[in-house]
Amino acid sequence: MGDLPKIVVTGASGRMGQMLMKTVSASDKCTLVGAIERSGHDWIGRDAGLCMGGGALGVMVSDDALEAFASADAVIDFTAPSATVEFAALAAQARIVHVIGTTGMDEAELAKLTAAGRHATIIRAGNMSLGVNLLTKLTRMVAAALDVDYDIEIIEAHHNRKVDAPSGTALMLGEAAAQGRGVKLADVRDSGRDGITSARQQGDIGFSAIRGGDIIGEHDVLFAGEGERIILRHVASDRSLFAKGAVRAAIWGQGRAPGEYDMLDVLGLAD
Ligand code: NAP
Repeated sequence: MGDLPKIVVTGASGRMGQMLMKTVSASDKCTLVGAIERSGHDWIGRDAGLCMGGGALGVMVSDDALEAFASADAVIDFTAPSATVEFAALAAQARIVHVIGTTGMDEAELAKLTAAGRHATIIRAGNMSLGVNLLTKLTRMVAAALDVDYDIEIIEAHHNRKVDAPSGTALMLGEAAAQGRGVKLADVRDSGRDGITSARQQGDIGFSAIRGGDIIGEHDVLFAGEGERIILRHVASDRSLFAKGAVRAAIWGQGRAPGEYDMLDVLGLAD
């Protein structure tokens, strides 16, 4: 028990934070040692398990991330971009593995993660599930096999509280399609069509986002040609999928050299 990787979860009260704490505490391969929330949150100083409406976990929710990281082996972080950038600096200081599920980061924030990755092992993925990571491989293969007569569109659906669009997963799939075509996503990305947008530009990769109800996450990659359509689809029906992937990443990261990794590395699917 003493040698199991010790894990801290940030954003403890969030949808993913709660799922992560349950997954880590139920695992026999790691142990939950910390739960972080922002200062002033009413969970601070209370047992994380009792806060979630279950039995006590013996882990008090805290707002002192550095203190928690100092006695941990990994932090699993599904919060918000500004919080994740701060946690990355602290994880690098504590020399622990930082598993990042947070999406919606801009270029400047990503650059700060790269800087932190000089000292910490960072594993970041817009989607931590095996299925979606397989789907990125398939997307790249299909995009490489078809010419630009096939229009690529990525359609995603999520719950009505999601704040960023396109989703991190949609962007991962877009990157994979662009790689398959040998182009940069930034040069061909077409998101947020509204009004008189003019005809579709050949070679563009389009994004559409649906927001509603409690949808956990659905992604279609559509290759639309003349007379036929190919659709690659992933449907997440349980949030524990992402939490299990994140826990696997935290364990995989133990003893790895500092740097930036993704779920394809963890799953052994990287080229
Ligand atoms: P959520 O329910 O809103 O939870 C976010 C949590 O982070 C909240 O508890 C929030 O606290 C906390 N937080 C924000 N800023 C903080 C800070 N400065 N310090 C400490 N805690 C802070 O959202 P969610 O659905 O769990 O999603 C969280 C993130 O994970 C999103 O970016 C989402 O897109 C991503 N996600 C990724 C995957 C994947 O597989 N990679 C899967 C699902 C979700 P407050 O409520 O006090 O703001």
